[in-house]
Amino acid sequence: MSVGTRVAPAPTVTPNKAYETSLAQYDRAVSHLDLPAGLIEYMRLPKREYTVNFPVRMDNGDVKMFTGYRVHHNLVLGPSKGGIRYAPHVDLNEVRALAMWMTWKCALVGLPYGGAKGGVICDPKKLSDKENEGLTRRFASELVPIISPHSDIPAPDMGTNSQTMAWIMDTYSMTVGYSVPAVVTGKPINIGGSEGREEATGRGVIIVMEEALKRRGRIDRDEIRIAIQGFGNVGAHAALYASELGYKVVAVTDVSGGAYNPDGLDVEALFNFTRAARNNLLKDYASDDVDIIENDELFGVECDVFIPAALEDQVHEGNADDIKASLVVEGANGPTTPGGDDILRDRGIVVVPDILANAGGVTVSYFEWVQDLQNFFWDEVEIMRQLRRILLKAYDKVVAVAEDKDIDMRMAAQIHAINRVAQATLTRGFYP
Ligand code: NAD
Repeated sequence: MSVGTRVAPAPTVTPNKAYETSLAQYDRAVSHLDLPAGLIEYMRLPKREYTVNFPVRMDNGDVKMFTGYRVHHNLVLGPSKGGIRYAPHVDLNEVRALAMWMTWKCALVGLPYGGAKGGVICDPKKLSDKENEGLTRRFASELVPIISPHSDIPAPDMGTNSQTMAWIMDTYSMTVGYSVPAVVTGKPINIGGSEGREEATGRGVIIVMEEALKRRGRIDRDEIRIAIQGFGNVGAHAALYASELGYKVVAVTDVSGGAYNPDGLDVEALFNFTRAARNNLLKDYASDDVDIIENDELFGVECDVFIPAALEDQVHEGNADDIKASLVVEGANGPTTPGGDDILRDRGIVVVPDILANAGGVTVSYFEWVQDLQNFFWDEVEIMRQLRRILLKAYDKVVAVAEDKDIDMRMAAQIHAINRVAQATLTRGFYP
């Protein structure tokens, strides 16, 4: 047995585009608000950051070292909430950016939460199920001192899923000696998960997309062509819901490339194919009805709506000019760089920003947490009704601020969210 081998290079805090983007957006938004300088600096910084190096026994008997992070950005409005990501590119600055966006997202949709995010540097596709479970349980045990239903509540994100949440919930429960379903959200339904959570982020994306289209007089669903980057939890459920409602999903991609049909794809067949085996990729989908495209080609696809639902920094100065859609709905967190944003704005393309467009996930996570704490569970009809109500209320608010200040929706969403945290901070005062 070899001990202490690393599966990835030792972590360093490198400059990170997403972190730069989150700070640039913040600086721009606070310039519209009349707030004390100290408060501006306070909200710009993460409250606390946790880095953990931990060993995992691999299937061949070797012990390998992994590094994970959990960042609590701001807890003024309540316990912190945010996903855990497993990906090779995870670093502390990426997690800082995602934690900050969670603070604004929860504040924007009016949830009683602060923002957090976590991540482990690993490639989950290269781990066996047993290794994945071992890594998750060890990381969860390292997180025990800083998570709980009343302090910080993790959820799934890129590379993690409901099974990951089940292992975290079980590890936490075994440590404290009793079952604590409310310590995570996005769990399987049979251990306290919520109806509709799995689909919530993708469905929320489509709910706000439909609202944006409606406000532009576009109501014939079968005439609207949608292209989606990312076919994971968010992208695939957005695609499924859109095609169920009668929209034409013309292109979807994953890390390998994607499928394209100008007349509309059979999304359910693509979904079943990619979920049939763990490593099934869209580029390997064979059908006469589908052209396989490269990732870059997606940006030039003729469509009305473009939904980036993969990862950060995807729409930038190098490709924002190629986008044919008149509406961009951000399923991913931070998919557009400030340079990309400027180009889209100059071209008159409306962007529904991430903290509004993908807030369906954390909203149903909130419902799950409330149900777990009350031990009283709602049906899917109620979940969808409440989800729609909350997202559309936030949408209205964003449009009102945008019109009032004559700014785009991203700035309006950030201003409203930041001001909510700012006013709560001022009401609470600075301890001691
Ligand atoms: P996931 O791991 O389930 O799926 C990610 C998808 O993106 C996969 O299909 C992957 O192949 C694809 N992908 C990766 N790199 C790509 C590339 N370069 N080009 C095209 N596709 C690529 O992750 P997810 O949970 O769907 O999260 C996607 C995004 O949505 C992330 O930004 C995440 O932070 C955000 N988000 C997720 C949730 C949630 O509830 N899961 C909620 C809010 C926001």
